[in-house]
Amino acid sequence: MGLKQIGENQKVIKEGIIGFSDAGEAYLIGCKCEVCGKEHFPARPLCTECFSEALHPISLSQEGTIYSFTVVHMGVKGFKTPYILAWVDLGQSRLAAQLKWDAERADELKPGQKVRLIVDTVREAPDGTEMVSYMFEPIV
Ligand SMILES: [Zn+2]
Repeated sequence: MGLKQIGENQKVIKEGIIGFSDAGEAYLIGCKCEVCGKEHFPARPLCTECFSEALHPISLSQEGTIYSFTVVHMGVKGFKTPYILAWVDLGQSRLAAQLKWDAERADELKPGQKVRLIVDTVREAPDGTEMVSYMFEPIV
């Protein structure tokens, strides 16, 4: 399949979190501490483990596993509810992200479920621009 570069009418919700390979595949941009080896997402100027400032950017794995998840019924304004919010383990990083999965079928998911990174619309801006962000979809 492969993920495509975002379209003309789309905008990544936050700068500097998603990169695209030459083949158009999306990846998350994190950073790795050169002193203790801890990986962080999103990238930050200071390591929260050892307080080193020696960090370099890395591309995170595109596949991971669900650590935990919850169904969100009362979301942030502009986001369609219900949706599933998951903690996903990607290599050394654990991050919160929306799952592209029917919230009514949340009972079919469990911790350890394999997921892959996708980039999809999370909401529409007032001017019609589609705001896109990273999400994960279960690999079934
Ligand atoms: Zn560190």
